[in-house]
Amino acid sequence: MEKKAKNLLHITAGSVLCLAFGYNMFLGAAMLVSNAFSERISNQQQLERIISEEKKKIGSTTPLSVRLYSKEEAKARGIKHPQHVKVTYENGEVTHRIDMIEGYFATRAITRHEIHHFANKNIDKMALPKHPNAYWFISEPAANLYALTGINF
Ligand SMILES: [Zn+2]
Repeated sequence: MEKKAKNLLHITAGSVLCLAFGYNMFLGAAMLVSNAFSERISNQQQLERIISEEKKKIGSTTPLSVRLYSKEEAKARGIKHPQHVKVTYENGEVTHRIDMIEGYFATRAITRHEIHHFANKNIDKMALPKHPNAYWFISEPAANLYALTGINF
């Protein structure tokens, strides 16, 4: 009987993991599709305007440095990800940055996703290797859900 209960527990845990994984993949895929139809960002002024609009929508007052790099500039600076979110701590000062590379991922949808991370302070968890699951199973799907629907957890 106890073995059966243990098996059932394993099956249940496995199913929950599969569901969480599936849900995460589904939101990621939906995000990619939505990105294709999202407003393209082609210059720095437009990026700043969109950031300011999206910060207002989510109610974030966090000062944010943003920069749109050309592919050449990004390569020269060693920025590899199309959208790079960073929190740096220097002399007690906290700086929040979004570095975006021109191209497919320079869109309003991606901006909304990244702003969600800052607004919900879960960006700090991304830097913690102790919480990779919190990042992949909570922060990422939550940011995708927000970018897609405006529902903010
Ligand atoms: Zn993210």
